[in-house]
Amino acid sequence: METPSQPSHDRIIIFDTTLRDGEQAPGAALNIDEKLTIARQLARLGVDVIEAGFPYSSPGDFEAVQKIAEVVGVEGGPIICGLARTTHNDIKAAADALKPAARSRIHTFIATSDIHLQYKLKKSRAEVLSIAGEMVAYAKSLTNDVEFSPEDAGRSDPEFLYEVLERAIAAGATTVNIPDTVGYTTPAEFGALIRGIKENVPNIDQAIISVHGHNDLGLAVANFLEAVKNGARQLECTINGIGERAGNAALEELVMGLHVRRQYFNPFLGRPIDSEAPLTNIDTRQIYKTSRLVSNLTGMLVQPNKAIVGANAFAHESGIHQDGVLKNRLTYEIMDAQSIGLTDNQIVLGKLSGRNAFRSRLKELGFDLADQELNKAFVRFKELADKKKEVTDWDLEAIVNDEIQQAPELFRLELVQVSCGDRAHPTATVAIRTPDGQELTDAATGTGPVDAVYKAINRVVNVPNELIEFSVQSVTAGIDAIGEVTIRLRQNDRIFAGHSANTDIIVASAQAYVNALNRLYASMQRQEEAGKVAVGKQKEGAVAIES
Ligand SMILES: [Zn+2]
Repeated sequence: METPSQPSHDRIIIFDTTLRDGEQAPGAALNIDEKLTIARQLARLGVDVIEAGFPYSSPGDFEAVQKIAEVVGVEGGPIICGLARTTHNDIKAAADALKPAARSRIHTFIATSDIHLQYKLKKSRAEVLSIAGEMVAYAKSLTNDVEFSPEDAGRSDPEFLYEVLERAIAAGATTVNIPDTVGYTTPAEFGALIRGIKENVPNIDQAIISVHGHNDLGLAVANFLEAVKNGARQLECTINGIGERAGNAALEELVMGLHVRRQYFNPFLGRPIDSEAPLTNIDTRQIYKTSRLVSNLTGMLVQPNKAIVGANAFAHESGIHQDGVLKNRLTYEIMDAQSIGLTDNQIVLGKLSGRNAFRSRLKELGFDLADQELNKAFVRFKELADKKKEVTDWDLEAIVNDEIQQAPELFRLELVQVSCGDRAHPTATVAIRTPDGQELTDAATGTGPVDAVYKAINRVVNVPNELIEFSVQSVTAGIDAIGEVTIRLRQNDRIFAGHSANTDIIVASAQAYVNALNRLYASMQRQEEAGKVAVGKQKEGAVAIES
């Protein structure tokens, strides 16, 4: 692996910002355990850099970055990065949070477009230039890997942009990132912007050029690929393209675009045209699994027609296509489903499969469970095998994701029972164990069985919220398939996701709702605690900075 002081120019660095920019998507909020689970999977996927958060923004973000630095930022693992505005407090907090990582990076940014200078920063160009230099130098005094971003570069005056970048590199920035913050540029314009930087910033050979961009016009991935042709060597992206507004450039689309069309891109990276060497470090077979994990934990569903990871991306429905694919896959397929880890949906286990077979299949699927988690998952597997003769890999993933990737079980669903039909008022009874250990039972009627269950749960849990999304998807084909329920609910302006899988969709619906309520309740508890903690933290920070 290279060090930042030796920029690589024939390979593309994948900088994943799912946990920072992606998590800023409305409703994608993740807790620390969930962030850690995603960070571990990103390491398996082979990303070069994980932007783990914005440490100064909240005590929770600080702790998450610190934990990821400690657990995932080990020797041989990815570089762990923290975001910071160009202030001492922000940069110091990032450096502190990143301390446990074997390799860490501070990413600091300041806006350079006139519209941001005038209305947001209320600063002159000269002031921004000197702040950028001073703060990059400060970050450099804390770590040798510093990335600088001129925010809203896409709408900045190029001449001023060149000056700011030159100053940041002179002060020690080893990566300069060019963001199309508002998703406004077109591919040709973005390519020209990168080319202009390469030609006009005198010390640009001492830094890697990176790009960041939003998908407001659906052009983020196209812009990035054009940037690669013009000299960009780091791409900032997210799994499933999640992020603010229309999201970021999608990692899976960039990586597979560069992989499938490597012969097209090779010459731009100075490689022989027919070189088969991969253009990124990504293990593409981990893509599908990572996509599912991020979707489940954030509650942000992947649209069926989404490139690479959508449910229909590899499905051939039309007769003409099916005929062609059966005769030779290459007639209509430009890539192999297995290359993104979408294995044939084989029947792998059944009712008689034992614990060892179960454990070893999970290992092959990349799940390394602790004994206690394995026991819980095995019980679920046996229950499923009783109802469903043939258990597939996807069923196993659904069970494991359901068992191990959940919010702390503050409320526990003990029982759910529903009666419904065309002559009946849908009526639900639920029993729930509350955080203080009581078991409470209540019942309610509703417009349908799920509505009745949710009303009954609300009567027990009594936490005000508004259900804003409810979706059911089946994991496999057939009438006995596992149904996955994803819901999102809102309290004030915060959104919480819940996810659950079961052959009974009413049970899955109830469990998904309780999971989301547990997240909501945990966040209410954290906010109460943070109120107390924040006061102490501020005092500490103030002392450190004055000294
Ligand atoms: Zn962004």
